[in-house]
Amino acid sequence: MNILILNSGSSSIKFELIDTECNHQSVKGRIERIGEAESDFNIEWQEDNRERKHYQEFTTIADHKTGLRHCINALITIGIIKQLDELDGIGHRIVHGGDVFTEAVKITDNTLHKIYRLSQLAPLHNPAGIAGIEVALQLAPAVPQVAIFDTAFHQTLPPEAYLYALPWELQQKHGLRRYGFHGTSHQYVTRMTARYLSRPENTLNLITLHLGNGASATAIRNGSSVDTSMGLTPLEGLVMGTRSGDIDPSIPSFLIEHAGYTPIQVGELLNSASGLKGLCGANDMREVLQLADDGNEQAEVALKLFCYRIKKYIGAYFAILGRLDALVFTAGIGEHSSEIRRRCCMDLQHLGITINAERNRKAISETVEISDPDADIKVLVVPTNEELEIAQATRHCLNRCND
Ligand code: ADP
Repeated sequence: MNILILNSGSSSIKFELIDTECNHQSVKGRIERIGEAESDFNIEWQEDNRERKHYQEFTTIADHKTGLRHCINALITIGIIKQLDELDGIGHRIVHGGDVFTEAVKITDNTLHKIYRLSQLAPLHNPAGIAGIEVALQLAPAVPQVAIFDTAFHQTLPPEAYLYALPWELQQKHGLRRYGFHGTSHQYVTRMTARYLSRPENTLNLITLHLGNGASATAIRNGSSVDTSMGLTPLEGLVMGTRSGDIDPSIPSFLIEHAGYTPIQVGELLNSASGLKGLCGANDMREVLQLADDGNEQAEVALKLFCYRIKKYIGAYFAILGRLDALVFTAGIGEHSSEIRRRCCMDLQHLGITINAERNRKAISETVEISDPDADIKVLVVPTNEELEIAQATRHCLNRCND
């Protein structure tokens, strides 16, 4: 099946064309700065196993509709498709599926209506995904479309993991609970780990660490998510590029009462000006590592806090799981920074976690084991591929609907 994956952000669209029979990602592209004077359009593709080609254009793309048209025109001009109707499906990444969606769903009037209603829980994220769906429905009404939710994989959390200790009625009324995010990534690396270890997925206990600009940890028992660090929104949990992660819940009211902040400013502070950026001025981990290397003390503290928080979650999730088969690092930082992996696993030998310095240092582009050969628990680096997971989920959903 030829599936177009659309990942629409508030001012960006990422797209990929994937043949799900051979998992070949033939085209990959993105538009940044939609709505600004100069948008950045990028596309990369491969023709018949030849070298990959790349085209970049700076142009005005006023809105998502124009953006998606631009993507489709490019696919046609390059000769990847002749018309949109040739596609077997379009898969849309939607950040928040609430407790309504436990798996990928085909988009109908009814499902779209439910996704609209969930926007309240994710005002920063869901409207962009909805815009992508609306435009794709207009441009390709004959192509079946599927929504894939970041939250769906975590719908197996038990109540003690997803509930907050807030008044029961209040939680029920407003849907306040832990939903968890990065679900497609945690699910994908769970599947890849099972494949690597030659074990059935539903026998595996894992802690998966998705460490990118956003970062989250998940406890996986018998292949299912049983706890995860992000909560009602992607703000809770680990220290991230610009997000604070866990803080004392009274800090927002303190800032409002004593430091002149409005509720909106507090939200912006915790989401966009905290985390690594708040601690040392840089949110790109490569820059933070470089600064620390150059002797910048704040950057060193930021690194320590980043890794300390991860270790706390490893300890907590290990206690919950009882038995751990593997600790899995993934996403930009998890896949590429041997220094962060080293720091996160330092002094964990009492838990059976030790990594081998040489294995850890090697460059990584596929699943590898970095633990000591005689360590009790395997430590793996597993490159994530959320687009592939979305394409496969789209295919499964369409096959299910056609059965
Ligand atoms: P996103 O959450 O936006 O998908 P990614 O998974 O691409 O993010 O991760 C981005 C993060 O990965 C950035 O902090 C970047 O600095 C970090 N990163 C990428 N390559 C390296 C590297 N070689 N060493 C350290 N950090 C890296």
